[in-house]
Amino acid sequence: MADLLVGQVLSFAADPFAEGPGAARIWERGGVLVEAGRIAALGDAASLAAAHPDATRHDYGAGLISAGFIDAHMHYPQTAIIASWGKRLIDWLATYTFPEEARFADPAYCAEIAGRYLDMALAQGTTSMCSFATIHPTSVDAFFTAAEARQMRVLAGKTCMDRNAPADLRDTAEAAYDQSRALLQRWHGVGRARYVITPRFAPTSSPAQLAALGALWAEHPDCLMQTHLSEQTDEVAWVAALYPKARDYLDVYESAGLLGPNAIFGHAIHLTTRERARLAEVGAAVAHCPTSNSFIGSGLFDMAGLKRDGLRVGLATDTGGGSSFSMLRTMAAAYEIAQLRHVALHPSQLIWLATAGSAAALGLGQRIGSLLPGHEADLVVLDLASTPAIAQRSARANDLWEALFPTIMMGDDRAIRATWVNGRLAHARALA
Ligand SMILES: [Zn+2]
Repeated sequence: MADLLVGQVLSFAADPFAEGPGAARIWERGGVLVEAGRIAALGDAASLAAAHPDATRHDYGAGLISAGFIDAHMHYPQTAIIASWGKRLIDWLATYTFPEEARFADPAYCAEIAGRYLDMALAQGTTSMCSFATIHPTSVDAFFTAAEARQMRVLAGKTCMDRNAPADLRDTAEAAYDQSRALLQRWHGVGRARYVITPRFAPTSSPAQLAALGALWAEHPDCLMQTHLSEQTDEVAWVAALYPKARDYLDVYESAGLLGPNAIFGHAIHLTTRERARLAEVGAAVAHCPTSNSFIGSGLFDMAGLKRDGLRVGLATDTGGGSSFSMLRTMAAAYEIAQLRHVALHPSQLIWLATAGSAAALGLGQRIGSLLPGHEADLVVLDLASTPAIAQRSARANDLWEALFPTIMMGDDRAIRATWVNGRLAHARALA
């Protein structure tokens, strides 16, 4: 049985950073035909309806139908500590993050937070994400189990730490390898799950642990590897002190076998010229976490420069270090941070980063992130007039981009009219 979603349809066949807003294809009265979890066709609504008279019709009027949002870097175990006050990175981890992550030794707590987080993500139009778990294998099992129940395509891995963390949040090099491997074998490629090898970051792993995870990655090179890189200047200095022989922060990872095209590095703000060139040469991806960067006071990500260097860049909330679960709010923060660097990101670039850009950064650009025939049917329907303030501005718009931008800058979960996952309705906004 097919479903036909009708509304304004936005599809990208190319990267608007390279080709401008013309990279997008827009149908003002368009349709997306969904069948067996996939996008079967898209185009003019009347033609699709005529060709598929038996499809169940879902008419979203002037709603904008886009690929679902993809959060390229976040920490689901930090859901309950989002918006914790007053600390920079290292203090923030010690004060808020580590005590909360210790609670994930309890499988029931893991399940409660995983379900709570995923339901909030769906209500924000986020259909996929790449999450850090905690050191506890049960935190990974809970996340994949909760995602499987919702048919979501998710990526996650056990966060490995064997030093500079509380005793109840430390594993060892051997345990990190063994537990990560067991989880990888249990979950990677099962349904819509992908396992991600996940050292938290260089300061909380010994050289032996990083090397063990590098060895595991070499055995399973189709997995992603995620970690953090150059978020704050005092963190960069700490890494230099911990790894005196390394050329720079990135070299710590590379020396351990943790650099390659399937690597995604969160933040990547304070990069040296060599690090930027090396990331581009290898084809590694980075995740821009703009609400986190301003919330924790980390710095201004160089979107224009890194895109010019040819890096794959995904957009991410980094919750709970980030201050919002909303990818709309995250797009707004990316716009503001770029403005502080005297670059005005176009609405087409912002929504592309949150969909196709993140998908490409996670190596999933052929499956999700774009409304293209054959892609998995993960979609969001945006109401571009969700509040009086947004409605009065979008009413003046001369084109779709001008109509979309107020929702990017001022929209929240009220703008998410519906979220579709794997070809089925997963969330619908309650009527006021
Ligand atoms: Zn993070």
